[in-house]
Amino acid sequence: MDTPEAAEEASSKVFPEALRDRFCPSPWSYAEIFSTGEVFVCCSAWTNFKFIGNIFTDPPELVWNSRQAIAMRAGILEGSFCECDHLKCPHIFGNLLPTRQSIRQAWHGGVMGEAIDRNLTSLAHGPLVVKLNTDESCNLSCPSCRDKLLVAAKSKQARLQLAFDNFILPFLKDARILVLSGDGDPFGSNHYRHVMIQTAEHLPNLKVGLHTNAVLLDEKAWEDCRLEGRTEMVQVSIDAATEKTYSIVRRGGDFNRLLKNLDFIAAKRRSNDIKRFDIIFVVQTHNFEEMKDFILLGKQLGVDSVEFMLIYQWSRGLNSVEYQQQKIWGAEHPRHREFLKVISDPIFRDPMVTMAALDMLLSEIQPAEIATPTGEAFQKY
Ligand code: SF4
Repeated sequence: MDTPEAAEEASSKVFPEALRDRFCPSPWSYAEIFSTGEVFVCCSAWTNFKFIGNIFTDPPELVWNSRQAIAMRAGILEGSFCECDHLKCPHIFGNLLPTRQSIRQAWHGGVMGEAIDRNLTSLAHGPLVVKLNTDESCNLSCPSCRDKLLVAAKSKQARLQLAFDNFILPFLKDARILVLSGDGDPFGSNHYRHVMIQTAEHLPNLKVGLHTNAVLLDEKAWEDCRLEGRTEMVQVSIDAATEKTYSIVRRGGDFNRLLKNLDFIAAKRRSNDIKRFDIIFVVQTHNFEEMKDFILLGKQLGVDSVEFMLIYQWSRGLNSVEYQQQKIWGAEHPRHREFLKVISDPIFRDPMVTMAALDMLLSEIQPAEIATPTGEAFQKY
């Protein structure tokens, strides 16, 4: 018979102490769709690419309540988080998950409270936030993401349009926010522009969250895509604080045009037409010396947050040698200590700055490497 100590030890293996009282709302609220048609309930890499279904083969209600979706929710409700990769999810390794009590105060707290109280794994409601990564088309060809300009052919645009009509529109029935886009650019893609116009038509209460390089996001694009009055947040991915570095990390971009558009977005934020304005910086050897100036740029623009992310190998972009050259966060990188010195500046503790792995890096602990989809995966459809 097990001793109480043995039982306690066995239990703590299945239900890690730090996670017992924690909750993650993602599988009850979030869906992210890729160009392959695969649907995920959070960042695909954090669950080792366990998708819950496919928009090209399954109807929306079967995807959202598929066996994998139910397993994700059950793992969180039992406290094991067994479908999540504990070393890759920053909410887990960064100890950032809300408690089962505090999640009830969040904007979707009513839905989460009911899920916890009733142990709900199969859901009558659809996702509340949907992010589209379905079209890789972009006006830029940033080396960390791709080795050439990618624009969807007419036949692919037609296929995406069909999937939008048959799957995505009904999938959005309960959604409060549509995020564009996790791949490609909302304004560099004909398809995404179409999505913005059509959702304004069919789902007038749906809010939009933009993730963009913002080079094409000017007043005309804002009007053409009918964004006034329904844009919740704008996140601009920039990766530089000077024109010289920008021309390398945002190949094809125009820094002065970007600055003008950032002023346009900042004015929208000041007048409260948008509720959040964030700027994003993927840290690499090319740009780490500009991190502090990037925070100052954020302060000047009045952004809500300046987010730093570590570079990972996005196989459509850097090859292995190039990736190792840019992976400044790796302890083996010849300039790693210079990087640690930069991020030890107190400005990185400013509440507006987010960097999930900051404490790990400063404690000389290396975050896990994250595998990203291969070029072939993007060619599948
Ligand atoms: S991997 Fe992280 S974000 Fe994804 S469901 Fe698990 S805890 Fe939530």
